[in-house]
Amino acid sequence: MPGDALSQDPAELRRRIDTTKAHPARVYDVFLGGKDNYPVDRDAAAAALAANPRGYLDVRHNRDFLRRAVTTLTAEDGIRQFLDIGTGLPTQENVHQIAQRIAQDSRVVYVDNDPVVLAHARALLASGPEGRTDYIDADFTQPAQILEQAVKTLDFDQPVALVLVAILHFVEDEEAHPIVRELVDALPSGSRLVLSHLTEDLNPENVRAVQRTYTERGFTFVLRSKAEVERFFTDNGLELDDPGVVPAHRWRPDGNAPAPEAADPAYLATLDDIEK
Ligand code: SAH
Repeated sequence: MPGDALSQDPAELRRRIDTTKAHPARVYDVFLGGKDNYPVDRDAAAAALAANPRGYLDVRHNRDFLRRAVTTLTAEDGIRQFLDIGTGLPTQENVHQIAQRIAQDSRVVYVDNDPVVLAHARALLASGPEGRTDYIDADFTQPAQILEQAVKTLDFDQPVALVLVAILHFVEDEEAHPIVRELVDALPSGSRLVLSHLTEDLNPENVRAVQRTYTERGFTFVLRSKAEVERFFTDNGLELDDPGVVPAHRWRPDGNAPAPEAADPAYLATLDDIEK
């Protein structure tokens, strides 16, 4: 039921939060200048930044891609339903805020496996009165469970945008491909897949060095080429919208992308924090 995420037991939630090991959602939060991270996460972010100093910008470009993609789908393509798996922390505007600003009746189901994201479910569930949101505490590798709960909020007879932004690099091929297929197969015609992914096609030495810093910390970290990312669409009978798979900041830029300079207060604050 919508609202289940709010009935979480605080003690159980605290027990699930592991502060001894870096977690993707919290490391990503460090890059965005958020506050929901622990020393292990800041250490992981610092190591990744040392390996690839423009990593903070890549993360911002990724988040801005998500904003533009949701804006385009809602404003131009008439999409009113989103299934956002690998939601991340609500450090910045979330999918429902972006979509409901354009179409108030937009519905969004969020899914993440991180208890810190669950702890913020209240912010994700704050839908406008005409729309609806729900939060599912589940793993990407449990597509049946995700779909079973998503139908309580989304109408699977109407198009749904499946949002897999910056999550699939945490999933190995053997699971990623069949699960994306299972999810796409559950969507009616007119549905969309929105996807972003880390690649070593660009800047390979730095990106591989980042990969090492994460695998040392126990993350699964799969880099996929442009051709491999395209397969998530073509193998599932989906056509790519223009301009196809491109660097995130080149996908339909609208002039509001984060600036390339490092002189960003949130970034500098993050660095200060890391140095402490
Ligand atoms: N989509 C957001 C956040 C990306 S960070 C954005 O692009 O801005 C990646 C998110 O995926 C994190 O919140 C992490 O907790 C989540 N994640 C990673 N592996 C996951 C899995 N197997 N199942 C569910 N969520 C996962």
